[in-house]
Amino acid sequence: MTTTFFDSNSAAFVEVAVGLPVYGTYTYSVSLPLQHQVLPGKRVMVPFGHRKAVAYVLEIKSGRPKIQLKDILEIFDETPFFPSDMIPFFKWISEYYKYPIGEVIKTALPSGKSRFRIKKHTSITPKRKFCNALGAPIAKDHPPKLNREQEKVISTILGKTMNKFNPFLLTGVTGSGKTEVYLHLAEKIICQGKNVLVLVPEIALVSQTVHRFRARFGDCLAVLHSGLSDNERFEQWEKILSGEVSVAIGARSAIFAPFQHLGLIIVDEEHDTSYKQESRLRYNARDLAIVRASQKNCVALLGSATPSLQSYYNIKIGKFEEVVLNHRVENRPLAHTEIVDLRSQKSAKGARRFISRQLSDAIKETLARKEQVLLFLNRRGFASYPMCVTCGTALRCKNCEITLTLHKSANAFKCHFCGYSTAASSHCPACGSSNIMHLGVGTEKIEEVIKKMFPDARTARMDRDTTRRKGAIIKTLQDLQHHRVDILIGTQMVAKGHDFPNITLVGIICADLSLSFPDFRAGERTFQLLTQVAGRAGRGQMPGKVVLQTFNPNHFTILAAREQDFKRFYLNEIHFRKILNYPPFSRLVQLKISGKNKEKTSAFAKDFGICVTALQQSRDQFIQNVEILGPIEAPLSRIARKYRWQILLKSPNASFLHSFINLLIHNEKTRLNNRQVKVTIDVDPYMML
Ligand code: ADP
Ligand code: ZN
Ligand code: ZN
Repeated sequence: MTTTFFDSNSAAFVEVAVGLPVYGTYTYSVSLPLQHQVLPGKRVMVPFGHRKAVAYVLEIKSGRPKIQLKDILEIFDETPFFPSDMIPFFKWISEYYKYPIGEVIKTALPSGKSRFRIKKHTSITPKRKFCNALGAPIAKDHPPKLNREQEKVISTILGKTMNKFNPFLLTGVTGSGKTEVYLHLAEKIICQGKNVLVLVPEIALVSQTVHRFRARFGDCLAVLHSGLSDNERFEQWEKILSGEVSVAIGARSAIFAPFQHLGLIIVDEEHDTSYKQESRLRYNARDLAIVRASQKNCVALLGSATPSLQSYYNIKIGKFEEVVLNHRVENRPLAHTEIVDLRSQKSAKGARRFISRQLSDAIKETLARKEQVLLFLNRRGFASYPMCVTCGTALRCKNCEITLTLHKSANAFKCHFCGYSTAASSHCPACGSSNIMHLGVGTEKIEEVIKKMFPDARTARMDRDTTRRKGAIIKTLQDLQHHRVDILIGTQMVAKGHDFPNITLVGIICADLSLSFPDFRAGERTFQLLTQVAGRAGRGQMPGKVVLQTFNPNHFTILAAREQDFKRFYLNEIHFRKILNYPPFSRLVQLKISGKNKEKTSAFAKDFGICVTALQQSRDQFIQNVEILGPIEAPLSRIARKYRWQILLKSPNASFLHSFINLLIHNEKTRLNNRQVKVTIDVDPYMML
């Protein structure tokens, strides 16, 4: 290893982010032979402590450093691996989410390390044919003539001075033609020589959106999602980087697509919680879309029939501009929703307790008309609450504080949090009795019951159990499209964005499952889910119907979902948020504390809580502005053998919250690195359990 001492003004040295969990950036010198090759965005190998590490060049510096620096050892790429104008974006993310900059960049880039190198004017090495990441070729479509509302939305957006940051929220009922708006806008932006990035919640589920973009733009687009292999992902990355494609479509990680001339970022179904990553770098791709668009001076278009409260509030305070599609395409009516009070079914026997007469009659009529039915229940498995009849003990996971779910076809009890599985013949852990009663209905049970009730109907089920195999989702959706399935039963997977014109009946088995979660967004999520699933009915020429079964027929969330009336829901919900001072009226940071040892974890949490409070009280400015809630044991107090505690920090002002956290990180560095108990920082948390 060579060491250079600078004594000349012309000597180059570089600021790099090391791909390791270390805060801050590092400076290295560049030996003469490498000086003409080094550029921001290239990956290099550097000596780091006693080891070597991959690092990313952020900045070339000249001048004369006062101290001795170590040389970079090797440069991997002939041309940059990411455009240098993404560096401010990475820095913003690192600062905002309190995550080491090198790890941020590592998260953003395709993995596979230095196996793949970017070469000048050529494709990648190792050179071989992989993609097709897009799947089988498809036929080109014929764009429909836009209706007046769609025209107006597009002209409003294009009417704004381009090359300026303009955030829009497109609100429009389900089936109002939002996707068609995206396609038209994308075309216009591409004609201006710019790039378009389209984010969708989960690519496997919304393959339909990809399909429509491909039908319009041909295969001249890239896709990015977690289902790709390292090779495929790298190839897509390279296509974007080299300018070979001008549209990329993908799930949340596509926000890092290395476009150089972004003109438009679309976030479809912007309310969807899958934009939030819940491990390592806990970012929200919807929020990052706004950040990236503002840094690149381009248009951001968020769209949803059920916008998040946060985004809609941003319209009210003038941060976003609203564009609206009030009507379904060709003025098709929204489905009529009939509410069934499940409390009146209590005395009913067997399946009647959860398939009411109203629902089974509606299914019968729909099948008679040769139309299709969608049944929704947001719980998979057969029974979610196995209980010992002899002593009353519930069967719980041995790793989590959660009841096990019976999966009949797999003949096993499974934990939906950690994956633990045990034979279905298990005995009561308390008294040894084998007399187990199965409460709590899941999709597997619904399917069994429906098959008995309608033996001639062809049924299919779509949930995480039936879609584990690659291609399974696509196959089910194709079966539905070609009417090889009469009744589709599924979890929230079936609620997302699908457009099947022959589905005229949606049955919601139990609308209340998520309503009582100990989470301030429980109502918001329930409204979104119910409205989205109801929006699957009657999208074609035939009118649709929804049968919504609930234990809370008068709850405002249920009533607003019945009308698919977002504004009604918003006005009620925003009122509670204000009273309780929850987002969007405040900002949150959650400190998640977890450890394998019960006593150590709780002692640490309490101790840590005292330090957090002491820090707050030692600085005047934080007393009023940062509220500390907890430490409390998490509602899910144990998951995957880890005991969980949490502290919630709340403030009306994000900058106070951020300076407080920075101070905390600085003060508690040693503690945060405790080996037995881990603290992770979740900025703008979603998963409050
Ligand atoms: P959303 O994204 O709001 O749910 P879509 O864009 O999927 O709505 O539109 C619903 C259906 O209507 C799709 O089948 C789409 O092809 C069709 N559609 C959209 N715009 C028009 C239009 N202007 N004329 C005719 N059909 C349209
Ligand atoms: Zn028992
Ligand atoms: Zn478990």
